Amino acid sequence: MKEIKLFSPATVANVSCGFDVLGFCLDPIGDEMVIRKSKQLGVRIIKIVGQELPLETKKNVAGVAAEALLSEIDSEYGFEIEIYKHIKAGSGIGSSAASSAGAVFGINALLGFPFTAKELIRFAMKGEELASGAAHADNVSPALLGGFTLVRCGETPDIIQLPCPNNLHAVIIHPEIELKTADARSVLKKTIPLEKAITQWGNLAAFISALYTSDYELISRSLKDVIIEPNRSALIPYFDNIKEAAINAGALGSGISGSGPSIFALTNGEVTAEKTRDEMVKILQSAKIEHSSYVSKINMQGIQILEQR
Ligand code: ADP
Repeated sequence: MKEIKLFSPATVANVSCGFDVLGFCLDPIGDEMVIRKSKQLGVRIIKIVGQELPLETKKNVAGVAAEALLSEIDSEYGFEIEIYKHIKAGSGIGSSAASSAGAVFGINALLGFPFTAKELIRFAMKGEELASGAAHADNVSPALLGGFTLVRCGETPDIIQLPCPNNLHAVIIHPEIELKTADARSVLKKTIPLEKAITQWGNLAAFISALYTSDYELISRSLKDVIIEPNRSALIPYFDNIKEAAINAGALGSGISGSGPSIFALTNGEVTAEKTRDEMVKILQSAKIEHSSYVSKINMQGIQILEQR
């Protein structure tokens, strides 16, 4: 194989009760990437369409992640990368993760799959480190593995693939406002009252249990964030109204996607998802805030190969 074209999906991290550890993969939105072998060794990003992002290998997350992979294997080829961006950088649905994960997935395929998808996560995390200063895995894991994933941090992290109820759907609303990840990080408090910590880890444990048992009511009761959302939500105009609209439309719950400004909701079924989207969007329409919105099944596959030759 000389060349591969792939679809690298958007992802939702944090998912209310799982700050920095939980994420899931979306279906209808993602970047496309073409990666091909070259005689010239090393990694070159030769084309980026759709957004102003650096072509320089060390400044683009795709280049950094690709170099991390190549530093652990002897390759007789170099690689050229083309990125067709559809996920806006800084929108909170894993734009940098899609590029990091796509780059290592594509190169791994062109090399004959020397690494498993799980092993690729540590290379993709190097790209995330460039984007946000922290090598977090909560977006790259669902992009590479699909579905819901849980990251147990530590010296030897565990990446756990979780099951997903068949009818679970996601709604994503992206208000076109600028919210820098650094600003979203700066409002976080360094200490947590014990009472809130207990509520949060109870919610996370219950949410994960509910994924295993397809218990939509328990998903709804546990999809709550008492630690991060109360501080961050003030950075997103009309957040409380949008969330309320989602719940009133029948959503199981709603929260900030990643570090925002995108907002997600989870629903039981597509019909409720469409209704939830309509009601959430109405708030932004009446506030005259530009936005885009998506209804998505949970993407259980992750990155998809579109063409290879
Ligand atoms: P998101 O929350 O949507 O993933 P991030 O804030 O994590 O967005 O990452 C966006 C940052 O990463 C921006 O500063 C952007 O310039 C940088 N970046 C570098 N390379 C890429 C790339 N290939 N795709 C997206 N963002 C990139």
